[in-house]
Order: sequence, then C-alpha cells, then structure tokens
Amino acid sequence: MGSEGGNGMIRPDAFRVVAGPCTVESYEQFYAGARAVKEAGFEYLRGGAFKPRTSPYSFQGLGEEGLKIISEVAGRLGLVAVTEVMDPQDIEPVMEHARILQIGARNMQNFSLLKRVGAALRGTDHGVILKRGFAATVEEWLLAAEYITSSGGENVVLCERGIRTFETSTRFTLDLSGVVVAKRLSELPVIVDPSHAAGRRDLVVPLSRAAVAAGADGLMVESHHRPQEALCDGEQALPAEELGSLAETLRPIAAAV
Ligand code: PEP
Ligand code: MN
Repeated sequence: MGSEGGNGMIRPDAFRVVAGPCTVESYEQFYAGARAVKEAGFEYLRGGAFKPRTSPYSFQGLGEEGLKIISEVAGRLGLVAVTEVMDPQDIEPVMEHARILQIGARNMQNFSLLKRVGAALRGTDHGVILKRGFAATVEEWLLAAEYITSSGGENVVLCERGIRTFETSTRFTLDLSGVVVAKRLSELPVIVDPSHAAGRRDLVVPLSRAAVAAGADGLMVESHHRPQEALCDGEQALPAEELGSLAETLRPIAAAV
C-alpha cells in the first residue's frame, strides 16, 4: 500500500495513505507520531507547521521551526513529508523541507497561491495535495487544480475533506459522491480525508473503508501518539497505535476494487 516511484514522484498507480498529526508541536511529539506511521507501513507523513486556524487565538503552528522538524523526522524514518503552505512567501522553505505541499480547504480558491505553487513545482519532483474547499463544487475544485497544472505543476492530488451541510453530528459531511464524480471528470488521483470530514475519531475507520470501496486513490488520516494532549484536532486524531489495524482493515478492500 503506497509506494514511491523510482523517480521520486508519487506513483499514480499506488494506493497511498498520508498519516500523522494535525500539527507539529515538538520534535518528540512529531517523532513519536511518525514512528507509528512508519510501523503501520505507510509512507507519507503529514504535519502542519503553518496552521489555518479558525481563531487567531488558537495555536498557529511552529512555522519554520516546524518545517525543520518535519524534514528531520521524515528523513530519519525514510518517510515522504507532506505539509501545508498558506502563503506564497513560504513556498520556497516548504519545498526545501517537504516533498509534498498541501493547499488547504480555506485556500482552494486562493488563485495567486495556486499559480505560484504551480510555477514553483514546474520541473521538480515535488507534488501538491489540493484539498476541496468546504463550500466548493466539484467543478470549482477541478478548476482550482487547473490553476496549478496550467502554471506548470504536474503532480497534483485532489483531496476530499468534507463539505458544509445542515448536518451537525459531524464537523463536515464527507462527500463520497464528489469523489466518484471527480474521478470520472479528472485524471488526477483523488484521496479522502475522513478526519477533517467527520471531526470525530470514531468515524475515521468506517469512512476510510467506505472511501477505499468507493474507489479513492488514497487517504489522509490524522493520528497522534497522545490524542488527548494534541494542540490541534485531537478529537479527530486516531491514536497512533491504531494505524496498524487501519492498514490491515483497508488492505482487502483496496485489493478488491
Ligand atoms: C489539515 O489538514 O490539517 C487541515 C487544516 O485541513 P483542511 O484544509 O482540509 O481543513
Ligand atoms: Mn487538522
């Protein structure tokens, strides 16, 4: 499950799982979370250094210090680092420390960021995960991706992470039909983030299974070695030691689709 191609690009034919904490909090915290990602057999390690928090009073991430932790830990464990870029001025340092950039839901239609990321990716072996905005149609999402590809970025992965609906039992509503539609309309890989969609850890495994069964090309899952102590999104984080059983439960479904 999930494997890097010889040229360093994300292999388009492999099922990929990106896992790790919402946010880099310290070297020790991030290393502990990353070891569990490695032990589960996943190859992509996520962690935010620049965090798009709803409240300006919430922890905003460690910034460049966080980027250094990400690249050190990913390098030490042989994992591919994935981290969000929020501002064009951070594209260069983010690319220095992570192979895969993430553009968050709140920036899906930040067209100047999309164009700058596309131009920066041209001719590199970096990739970008473009989250779907929580109020964006599938068409708007695909057009946002084209801002990146038409500016030179080739290795773009789409990520469905839930949209806003009237339902309040989950943080957002996972739009699995949007995943299938996006896959019909686009050649880009489509992965699913059940963590932000649900906002609660008890739904992460069932939604992951459903996403794989629906034909998603991969997942992005938040995990933490001590979810109760997480500085961000702890309520949706899978305990890190449960990543191994997540991998086990997905394997036969991925093999069957
Ligand atoms: C995240 O991945 O931590 C995140 C903030 O995601 P989103 O942009 O989907 O809310
Ligand atoms: Mn998060």
